[in-house]
Amino acid sequence: MFSIFKLKDSTPLNDRESVYLMKMLQRYSVTRQGLWLQELDYRKFQFLWCAGMLDSGGVMGCFSPIFQSCVFLLPSGEPEVLPQKKYDVGRCYWVEQLFPTIIHELRHAYQWEKSKFAYILFALPVIRQFTLEYGANKAQKECADFLRRWTAEWDYREAAARGMAEQIILEKEENYVS
Ligand SMILES: [Zn+2]
Repeated sequence: MFSIFKLKDSTPLNDRESVYLMKMLQRYSVTRQGLWLQELDYRKFQFLWCAGMLDSGGVMGCFSPIFQSCVFLLPSGEPEVLPQKKYDVGRCYWVEQLFPTIIHELRHAYQWEKSKFAYILFALPVIRQFTLEYGANKAQKECADFLRRWTAEWDYREAAARGMAEQIILEKEENYVS
């Protein structure tokens, strides 16, 4: 079971993770679907890994008005394997995978900022599914296209760093033919 008490054992994202996440959010915030992030001022949030989520049965993120400028996230649970320095483009796979969750939780923060009264009212059991969760799930789904483009771009960057970019282009063209 996950409870809010587990949030206190959390550690901030490291510099590499923070930089990568800010890049993603910055880019998403200038797309039509992500425009609301500018209103929220996502840069003021602290993002933390919450080890208590590892045995929480599927909780991947949490925003709570008790810690209103924090977003808690599920850590990967495995030590991060970094590429060799000369091939390193600064990518963080786990941050990338959690991006939809991050958007979901930031949307809750946005709901909270928009109207604290409505948030408290809508957070009541049963109602919550049709109000707060409906909005957050919608925002989460809307970032899927962005995430696909982002992933493709960084696949390419990584491949380019390894000098394989041309090969990837060829493979893609072949796929289009078939
Ligand atoms: Zn939610």
